[in-house]
Amino acid sequence: MITGTTKLLGVIGYPVEHSLSPLMHNAAILQMGIDFAYLPFAIAPEKLEAAIRGFEAIGVVGFSITIPHKQAIMPFLTEISSLAKTVGAVNTVVRKNDQWVGTNTDVEGFIAPLRSQDNRDWSQTTTVILGNGGAARAVVAGCVQLGCSEIHVVGRNLAKLDAFAETWANSSLKTNLQVHQWELLPKLLPDAGLLVNTTPIGMYPHIQESPLSEEEIEKLNPNSPIVYDLIYTPNPTKLLQQAQKIGAIAIDGLEMLIQQGAAALKIWSDRQTIPVDVMRQTLTKHLRIGNRE
Ligand code: NAP
Repeated sequence: MITGTTKLLGVIGYPVEHSLSPLMHNAAILQMGIDFAYLPFAIAPEKLEAAIRGFEAIGVVGFSITIPHKQAIMPFLTEISSLAKTVGAVNTVVRKNDQWVGTNTDVEGFIAPLRSQDNRDWSQTTTVILGNGGAARAVVAGCVQLGCSEIHVVGRNLAKLDAFAETWANSSLKTNLQVHQWELLPKLLPDAGLLVNTTPIGMYPHIQESPLSEEEIEKLNPNSPIVYDLIYTPNPTKLLQQAQKIGAIAIDGLEMLIQQGAAALKIWSDRQTIPVDVMRQTLTKHLRIGNRE
């Protein structure tokens, strides 16, 4: 129930209509019985500064950030966590002592479903990451936190790959990272214990597409490989269907979305227990209904 004391949270993006964050956050807020409401805000890039000043004026308590503002927000923040600086992107902002403080919960969201893989020796796990955009940066930071032995990033644009590698070489985070052009992927697959898709290949409406051919997926390390697709619509993606066919462990992007949101809600609400099950059920139900329509 929204009253005169309700505190405002939200997500900024452009566009933002597709965002599932209002749905999952308001479900969690209701379950927790806390006095918050979470709204979507479509903010054009040229309006970002004005929007942040407006948020300050109306007393917004915190907000999530999605494309295209994850980097652009940084100059408007007083404090940025070292993790967000390393990743080069902020996805969560909180108002603290009348100042905007930014952090990155995508890394925690990405790692969460991997941590629940029992008995996995990450120090013996070679990771292959497809794509070198914003999400790939959170994935690299997550793989470093897990302690993955080798991280290989595969992309289609050599100049962008080199720039990606350079930022990590200059970073405080020590990482055994190499970049490769897409043509080299078949050579990397036999060693890959963890394959992560951070490209939009296979995302709705292109649901018949996969970043890997049938022959390529069969080349994956046969020792219980994990295939993790950051995409959550469709669910499962073609890549994850291929993974399931060869007996690999398949992880979809929904859990990352939920866990990064739960980590953000912890910060805003100052509560340690977040009803992650309610967030998951709400989104799964919503996506199931969407698939039927
Ligand atoms: P981004 O910054 O635009 O990066 C996309 C990357 O994919 C770029 O490296 C791009 O290559 C590459 N790419 C795009 N189309 C390609 C193609 N046809 N072939 C090969 N490479 C291709 O986007 P992002 O923010 O990293 O997001 C990437 C994906 O992750 C999206 O599907 C997004 O929905 C998903 N995501 C999920 C979560 C979650 O919580 N589950 C969170 C963040 C992102 P170029 O650089 O050469 O263009």
